[in-house]
Amino acid sequence: MSVFSHSAFDGHEHVAFCHDAKSGLKAIIAIHNTNLGPALGGCRMWPYASDEEALRDVLRLSRGMTYKSAISNIKLGGGKAVIIGNHRTQKTEALLHAMGDFVESLGGRYITAEDSGTSVADMKTIGERTRYAGGVVEGTEHGGDPSPTTAYGTFVGLKAAAQYRLGRSDLQGLKVAIQGVGNVGFRLAKHLHDAGAELIVSDIFADNTERAARELGAKIVEGDAIFDQDVDVFAPCALGAIINDDTIGRLKAAVVAGAANNQLAEERHGELLRSREILYAPDYVINAGGIIDVYYQRTGGSAEALKTHVESIGDTLVQIFDRAAQTSTPTGIVANKIAEERFMKA
Ligand code: NAD
Repeated sequence: MSVFSHSAFDGHEHVAFCHDAKSGLKAIIAIHNTNLGPALGGCRMWPYASDEEALRDVLRLSRGMTYKSAISNIKLGGGKAVIIGNHRTQKTEALLHAMGDFVESLGGRYITAEDSGTSVADMKTIGERTRYAGGVVEGTEHGGDPSPTTAYGTFVGLKAAAQYRLGRSDLQGLKVAIQGVGNVGFRLAKHLHDAGAELIVSDIFADNTERAARELGAKIVEGDAIFDQDVDVFAPCALGAIINDDTIGRLKAAVVAGAANNQLAEERHGELLRSREILYAPDYVINAGGIIDVYYQRTGGSAEALKTHVESIGDTLVQIFDRAAQTSTPTGIVANKIAEERFMKA
């Protein structure tokens, strides 16, 4: 397994591997770039089939965090951690403590937070061993979980995209298909419902879709049928790589705006969306509410300042849409350029 010549290496500053025999921890921390500040990114726990798969994931995610923080105007770099293991069966206190020691050993160059397979409770346990665990706030309703802010930022971004592409001044009657009504997707659905939108939802768990139907009047569709719906907006809030050769031709929406990470299977799918006049809100721009929230948790900004910052996601997207239109360039490429101008210059 190569590291320096890995196709996803992309000039990473630091990649650290940790094995703790006692607890069974096997983890990788990747720090992509710290020009703008310490690297902050979630800690994912996943039963990767191979070390190679884990390395590829952490490198790609870590690089993505550099771009996300830069485009969001927060003084953070990009990093990410992965723990190789099953979060339902292999997560123990000893393992999380060993992870905390690993994070602490980097002296603050990397700050961790929740991600797939880790929770606020896990961050508290990791935080018993390191000063560099984010996403934990005592005494608040969500305990530091950034999902509500991610959902709000996605809602703001979706509104901006609908206004830009469809000329909608409000969301009354706007038809939105949401793939995945979990932590973020359900909250996004609630914001949209409150704004008068009509919802179609899918999820692999029936209790999630049933809750959306019961509480928000959403129509439920099974599995892949979510791609075929006659809607104004498609909001991916589950998996990555769902904009691909199989799905692009099926989309009837004029806007793709959702919270999922890595929505485009390949960069060229951004150009395909553009050629079909589907406006794509780049994923790491629209879903940055969570990282902005964790940043404010660490720097102690007020709730009001946080809200204003998250609402700037709408303006950032409009700036990207304008530049993309002026230069006939996919929105994702434009977002990358703006982010690079910021973190490379710093
Ligand atoms: P989650 O696990 O709570 O929700 C994801 C939902 O998608 C689950 O309900 C799951 O059952 C469903 N799902 C999985 N496969 C599906 C499929 N094939 N079809 C339909 N539904 C499916 O996760 P989340 O925290 O809500 O995150 C959702 C997405 O947003 C992820 O891609 C995540 O990386 C991204 N994201 C989350 C945050 C955050 O703050 N939580 C921040 C940035 C990005």
